[in-house]
Amino acid sequence: TPRIVIAGAGTAGHHLAAALRESGFDGAVSLIGDEPHLPYHRPPLSKDYLAGTAHPDSLSLRAPAFYTEHKVATHLGIPVRQIDRTTHRVVLADDRPLAYDHLVLALGASPRPFDIPGRDLRGVVELRTRADAESLREHLREGCRVVVVGGGFIGLEVAAAARKRGADVTVLEAKPTLMSRALSTTAAAHLAELHTAQGVQVVCSTAVSALEGSAGRVYAVTTTGGQRLAADVVVLGSGVVPNVAPAAAAGLDVANGVVVDEYLTTSDPRISAVGDCANFPAPCGDRIRLESIQNAVDQARYVARRINGHTGTYSAVPYFWSDQFGMKLQIVGHAARSDRTVIRGTDTKFSIFRFHGDELAAVESINDPMTHLTVRKILGAGGTLTPDQADETVDLRALAR
Ligand code: FAD
Repeated sequence: TPRIVIAGAGTAGHHLAAALRESGFDGAVSLIGDEPHLPYHRPPLSKDYLAGTAHPDSLSLRAPAFYTEHKVATHLGIPVRQIDRTTHRVVLADDRPLAYDHLVLALGASPRPFDIPGRDLRGVVELRTRADAESLREHLREGCRVVVVGGGFIGLEVAAAARKRGADVTVLEAKPTLMSRALSTTAAAHLAELHTAQGVQVVCSTAVSALEGSAGRVYAVTTTGGQRLAADVVVLGSGVVPNVAPAAAAGLDVANGVVVDEYLTTSDPRISAVGDCANFPAPCGDRIRLESIQNAVDQARYVARRINGHTGTYSAVPYFWSDQFGMKLQIVGHAARSDRTVIRGTDTKFSIFRFHGDELAAVESINDPMTHLTVRKILGAGGTLTPDQADETVDLRALAR
């Protein structure tokens, strides 16, 4: 029976191991993770876990017994150091070799390195792991001054959680609008208004030039515009880069992630890659890398099916969510390009349909989960919507039936 080694014990790694066992796969399954924890939910790290309203136990994806009962051998707190493609082994940092018949890279991504003066001062943090969230939470106190560098979804969620803990919060975004990589300008403007109304200072078109400190601790942020902001805590949240080092060192194709084909197989047929670290061909023809739970789970489940003999190619409807100040943002689809929008709903509960020509690229819903789910149902069934069908007067649910 084949031996499956999964490198990376995060969202995708867990779901792959679980899906293999749920489908009756009886070969050996090993899950290797460099964090000391069993797989856990990352989304709460910038939401209720950071705000202090979620219990640590609620983070676990599964209880420890799940892995023993399902015969998933876990190797935690130790990174994969090397992939030896000739002998089909991965070598852990303590030199232990693990032989594989198929290796799945589920290595995730890491905060983008931020190379500015003062980066190493105390009080300057980033947020990817449970340990990061715990250390950031320690810093967030009533009245403390927090500067969030980067107005992406993690930065904005941190801003909301920090406000909940009574902090003074400023968000600095280098681009002219918030979440510019993922959102339409309409949705971005709504977010900026929401944050401003909740007392967050949102400053766009402003980059950081340096962090200043004294006695090893940060006390101010200077911007390229010459502004100086007092800061007790600086959260660096300007995106992530895929973890590709072991893949690159092993000579696999790497370009903004580990390059995979429509079967999520790398340039070595014995190795697949899934989740945040995988760069895959999307049905629209573009190569993309997605950073979402949906993508990690769907790709992991697909590879489990493929290992069990399924021969179809990978396809899934991407979706993503974010919670900020009680506002629920949900996105379905992937809008690399869009030149036309149709909006339905009211000021506080609406959806933005983004088209590229007549082709639906993505729908952003603000406090409008019904529309989000209906569109997911339509796209999931292989359908689409024209700009006319997105009009307020059309009954979407009838189209979904
Ligand atoms: P990960 O879950 O990051 O797992 C990869 C694991 O591999 C990590 O534990 C990493 O440490 C480990 N690893 C890396 N290198 C090695 C190595 N050499 N050897 C061994 N192990 C290694 N998505 C949403 O859809 N909705 C949200 O609301 C949302 N909120 C988020 C909030 C935060 C704070 C963060 C950080 C992410 C959030 N995401 C959200 C994104 C989502 O968590 C990721 O897209 C998802 O976890 C990706 O899964 P993955 O398995 O590819 O990577």
